[in-house]
Amino acid sequence: MTRPLLPGLQEFSEKLREIWECRQLTNLGHQHAALEGRLSEVLKVQNVSLFNSGTSALMVACKGLSLEGEVITTPFTFPATIHVLAWNRITPVFCDIDPNSMNIDPERLESIVTPRTSGILGVHVFGTPCDVQRIETVANRFGLKVIYDAAHAFGVEIEKKGIGTFGDVSMFSFHATKLFHTAEGGALAFNDGRLVDRIRLLGNFGIKGEERVVLPGINGKLNELQAALGLVVLKYVSRERQKRRRLLHTYKERLRDVEGVILPENVPGVRKSYQFFAVRIDRKKFGRSRDFVYNEFRKFNIFARKYFYPLCSEYPCYSHLPSSDASKLPVANTIAGQVLCLPFYGGLSEDDVGDICSILKSFQRT
Ligand SMILES: *Cc1c(COP(=O)(O)O)cnc(C)c1O
Repeated sequence: MTRPLLPGLQEFSEKLREIWECRQLTNLGHQHAALEGRLSEVLKVQNVSLFNSGTSALMVACKGLSLEGEVITTPFTFPATIHVLAWNRITPVFCDIDPNSMNIDPERLESIVTPRTSGILGVHVFGTPCDVQRIETVANRFGLKVIYDAAHAFGVEIEKKGIGTFGDVSMFSFHATKLFHTAEGGALAFNDGRLVDRIRLLGNFGIKGEERVVLPGINGKLNELQAALGLVVLKYVSRERQKRRRLLHTYKERLRDVEGVILPENVPGVRKSYQFFAVRIDRKKFGRSRDFVYNEFRKFNIFARKYFYPLCSEYPCYSHLPSSDASKLPVANTIAGQVLCLPFYGGLSEDDVGDICSILKSFQRT
């Protein structure tokens, strides 16, 4: 479904020479500092703190904001979003999603806040922003912190504002499957400069000085080799975005009139991430189920992905929670049965996309 963006090997090895010359492999060196600086510009956010994965970054975000008790979140996400709450001994409370954005439905938020709620963990699924304004309103009313999992939202902007400027802290993932990546890696982005020290300490064993350890931190450090890879990959991100923009256009043109294939909509004022191309298969209108399409595609060597199926609320570790009851998550359950991410990366040709669309159309039964 995707293929990592890779710069030329020559260009990367020249970058590695800088590391070999100074012999610092990790512990927040020059490459690390340079990448933080560049990302702060690219993401248009005041503070960026690098981590060795999006998951460790999110773990630190929860600790950094002292979340506890219950946190309201979405069941329609990658497992890490919810696991991070469990690792912080926080009870996830699942909120149903909006059928268009596929993100937390702000309409339902207030009714599930309890005295134990300490925060909201939203996910900008497939790069579509959550309703940040209404989430902020609810958060302010109840004194809740807001964290966003922006793993799919690299480069997303709302009215020219970086997506990482919304909420208290946002997490980005730089895993190889993400548009911008460091093979493995991640970052936290936030406006509040007072969080800088705390977040850095929590990601580095809480070590404040040679003889001072002040917080129960973890090893969340991104090493110099990966930071260097990020600096080189970053140069190719805008070219990759251009390619994906054309592919997205081709997909939409070719699938526009196919009954029962629901396409992602443009959101006015929002700069896209081009992370995924997710369609929904409406079984009644298309005449075939999402699973049928997924299985048939495999026969043509087309590997689509059912992101995100099953819902996190269906995992055995969370299905016992009161908020996991399927009757409380009707929209999420419907969408998890419809969604399919189609191949989407710059290395695809327009012809490839044309073929995928023709094959998809051939499955239709009307
Ligand atoms: C990729 C991803 C993560 C995990 O990030 P890692 O960098 O792999 O730890 C978390 N949430 C979402 C929504 C993701 O897509």
